[in-house]
Amino acid sequence: EEYPDFLPQLVGSFAQPAAENPTVAMVEAAFKHHNLHWRYINCEVSPENLGKAVEGVKALGWSGFNCSIPHKVAIIQHLDGLGESAEIIGAVNTIVKRGDKWIGENTDGKGFVQAMKEVVDPKGKKVVLFGAGGAARAVSVEMALAGAKHITIVNRNVERGETLTKLVNEKTPADATFQSWEDNYSIPADTEIVINATSIGLFPKTDQKLNINFDSIQSSMVVADGIHNPPKTHLIQTAIDKGCKTVNGLQMLVNQGVIGIKYWTGVDVDPTVMHHELKKIFKIQ
Ligand code: NDP
Repeated sequence: EEYPDFLPQLVGSFAQPAAENPTVAMVEAAFKHHNLHWRYINCEVSPENLGKAVEGVKALGWSGFNCSIPHKVAIIQHLDGLGESAEIIGAVNTIVKRGDKWIGENTDGKGFVQAMKEVVDPKGKKVVLFGAGGAARAVSVEMALAGAKHITIVNRNVERGETLTKLVNEKTPADATFQSWEDNYSIPADTEIVINATSIGLFPKTDQKLNINFDSIQSSMVVADGIHNPPKTHLIQTAIDKGCKTVNGLQMLVNQGVIGIKYWTGVDVDPTVMHHELKKIFKIQ
């Protein structure tokens, strides 16, 4: 009989704050289910300590890590290269050791697109996307790289909205148009995919609603929301009631995890195990 191996492969996360991030539970549920001798360590890292933390995990032989607020841009200076979308987005949330190089990827939008593809292929589609922050940036770039034809970016802050529109037009094959967010905005009838990438509806402000004309949502539209807590936002519930197909933020979060684990371990893990773990954490059903 073989002597047991007491040395797991290590990955983890750097963020501040770190305590409320459920990614560790979701990832470790997948490791356990697939008998992967890996551990995911959730670390609170301040901006001053980011460089030292990177040196630390290199010394400890980690295989990669996630980073979240406030490190998604600052981490880039510590890396050897960036994946295509991370380069365009200008932010990194997943670092992967490839050979002796530490490469930054961005799975925020990739997880979203993977969840979207289970419902509809973005290729050739007309999209309306609300928001122009970090999540909107990642989601619009990945939708564009996945072949979306046209993205209308609707945002309250004009400058931020125009900056993102310019980015999509200049750096991706998709066409984008900026639309300032008028009161009771009506979604154009030829829209095929509607995405909320703002923070509206995020716990604890769960009764906050998008300032849109909900009558303009039609059953033929696919409606997606980046908010994962709660997964059934007011927008998602409205869309379900109208008979639309939907994609919720929990599916986005799970798929981000699946993609990150694939980058690190090479294994395609079962998303249902991770989904189940998150549902338990957020006390859904
Ligand atoms: P940012 O702070 O970068 O951006 C927030 C966006 O929301 C901005 O476009 C902002 O508009 C808009 N916004 C906020 N409040 C309102 C309002 N009352 N009316 C109109 N617009 C509003 O945040 P992020 O982009 O990083 O995150 C947004 C959400 O995406 C988060 O709540 C998070 O839950 C979710 N997310 C989900 C992920 C997942 O895996 N499920 C991954 C990453 C993010 P303005 O520019 O006008 O201020």
